[in-house]
Amino acid sequence: MRAEFPDFRLDTVLATSFTGTLSERHGNAVERIPTPRRLVDWLALYGLTVDTCTPAQLDLARELRESIHAAATAAAIQDALPPAAVQVINDRSAQGQASAILTPDGERHWRLGAASPVEDALGVIAADAISIIAGERDGRLALCGSPTCQAAFFDTSQSRTRRWCDMNTCGNREKKARFNANRSKLSS
Ligand SMILES: [Zn+2]
Repeated sequence: MRAEFPDFRLDTVLATSFTGTLSERHGNAVERIPTPRRLVDWLALYGLTVDTCTPAQLDLARELRESIHAAATAAAIQDALPPAAVQVINDRSAQGQASAILTPDGERHWRLGAASPVEDALGVIAADAISIIAGERDGRLALCGSPTCQAAFFDTSQSRTRRWCDMNTCGNREKKARFNANRSKLSS
């Protein structure tokens, strides 16, 4: 069953990995969380384990995702943050009731509440977005160099010169395009 859905593109940064669940926003957009179940699957990969998700909660998640995308894009180009997006991020952050838990092995886990675990998980993602957009973390917000993508990503490379949101997809495609352009120049 699951093979019919687009794969996830996982990134080490929670908030921008989340915005990456919609890719190719400026081309043929690929929705990687097309159903509530796929959101449940995605959250589990980041240790945000919930049993179920309703269509209304999926709508909330997508609203948060697009709000993070809008705010992160504005921050990347040093534009004013869109107030509506900031409001959504703050609402989700305020509504979340997740607790950070330190395990005996020294790892951080998230404990989500029993009443509204999806909202709690979204709160964790919103707080992660806030820390990035506020410039608290070591890294730089940038936009993917692929014209059909232009996703906001968080560059933690030492040189801060990363150009693609995802090397395996956007990066390779652009490299191939450049290679083919050079080859056709040589043969003409
Ligand atoms: Zn990209």
